[in-house]
Amino acid sequence: MRHIEQIFINGEFVTPHGTERFDLYNPATAQVIGQVRLADELDAERAIAAAKAAFPAWANTTRQERIAALKRMHAAVVARHDELLEAIIEEYGAPSSRSAWMASYPADVIAQAIDALESFAFTLTAGAATVQMTPLGVAGLITPWNSDAGFICGKLAAALAAGCTAVIKPSEMSALQTQIITEALRDAGLPPGVFNIVTGRGDTVGETISRHPDVAKISFTGSTHTGKAILRNAAESFKRVTLELGGKSPTIMLDDVDLVQAVPLVIQAGFMNSGQACVAGTRILVPQSRKAEMEQALAQAVAAVRSGDPRDSATEVGPMVSAKQWQRVQGYIRKGTEEGASLLAGGEGRPEGTQDGWFVRPTLFADVNNQMAIAREEIFGPVLCVIPYRDEEEAIAIANDTDYGLSALVLGSDAGRAQRVAEQIQSGRVLVNTLAHEPKAPFGGFKHSGVGREMGTWGISAFMEPKSILS
Ligand code: NAD
Repeated sequence: MRHIEQIFINGEFVTPHGTERFDLYNPATAQVIGQVRLADELDAERAIAAAKAAFPAWANTTRQERIAALKRMHAAVVARHDELLEAIIEEYGAPSSRSAWMASYPADVIAQAIDALESFAFTLTAGAATVQMTPLGVAGLITPWNSDAGFICGKLAAALAAGCTAVIKPSEMSALQTQIITEALRDAGLPPGVFNIVTGRGDTVGETISRHPDVAKISFTGSTHTGKAILRNAAESFKRVTLELGGKSPTIMLDDVDLVQAVPLVIQAGFMNSGQACVAGTRILVPQSRKAEMEQALAQAVAAVRSGDPRDSATEVGPMVSAKQWQRVQGYIRKGTEEGASLLAGGEGRPEGTQDGWFVRPTLFADVNNQMAIAREEIFGPVLCVIPYRDEEEAIAIANDTDYGLSALVLGSDAGRAQRVAEQIQSGRVLVNTLAHEPKAPFGGFKHSGVGREMGTWGISAFMEPKSILS
């Protein structure tokens, strides 16, 4: 049993005023593996005060001083790689391919912020005006459980690069991972108060941060439901807001697609992060003309996906993060059947050979229309829908007929045609015949998938306000 008893405020680990204890689980066994003492509203206020006091000096640091601090953070996070990897498997249940990425991504994303900062234009010219990019002030960074260390490091690195100070509220369900990252960031030796980490509940610490008048900016990653609450709370004090929210991303298989190349990409896009990915390609759009052939290939591929023990190297889908998440996914599988969709693979219950843990059968539905709940709502588990379309025009219409717009994947042999289809998709990111990531490109969503952009120079600008000076 691990007991996490402290939060990080003003450069030191301190015992929170909050006294509530929250159980931490191993999702592969459903056993309690630790407990975290949660911060409360008073702790959040103390953290905000520390960040406010540290802001004037940090805002005045030079580009070189910020780069040096980020490099120390990078080295300190790299040094904790192995410990972080173990915590990701134990506390989150990510299978080996995913956990390896999740353990190295936090350092990578700091390196990417350094790269963007090196050439960032702090001063621009617009006609007769000089435009100075000015840091906003204290940033509240609120993160989810599905990539704890990555989101903490990515948001913090961008905020610090811009000259903001930060109060971070990670998910209470990721306290073991947060503890390792907090110790690493402490070791980087930044000035006290420049960053503060207060693990607590969303309705206490999260609410305090999103309402507090001394917080100038919120950068949030999480559900669309919480994003709306944050937007409302932030309005009172005109906080600048970046929201990275949910998705129901389409994967369009064009009628000239080569199934040998495409099917592995469809499966990977749908089941990445055990289906607990905001960008997961969960609506698979197939042409009527090749429907039977594609459904058969997809059904075979989904049936072959191994869901189970994250420590087994053959596992591709690990357990859901919590009992609540497991029940939610089971509920959607039931609902899909009730709505009249047919199961091509998977279904309710646990995969064969697993017990106790929050394991789900990788599931594929056919005979889905785009109005069904399983096609419209974010399930956040390994459940995919096949939706047929008549022609390209209808494929684009179905792809865009969603409240979301975070990511999309277009697959086809004629690259020019696939590109033309991609240009008509309303989404912050469209991948064509690839699952590659480009850290220099802006990341974020259209419509209910969010507000604003992260990554690259866009990510740094999001923590700044342009000031025009005319003389
Ligand atoms: P969540 O919205 O429940 O929680 C996210 C964070 O917000 C947690 O730290 C939580 O404690 C906090 N929170 C909850 N209520 C709050 C409130 N009223 N005020 C302030 N903070 C509050 O989301 P989750 O279940 O942790 O994560 C899953 C969701 O995150 C999914 O919907 C997924 O699509 C989304 N997500 C989006 C991206 C992206 O980049 N777009 C990436 C990963 C996850």
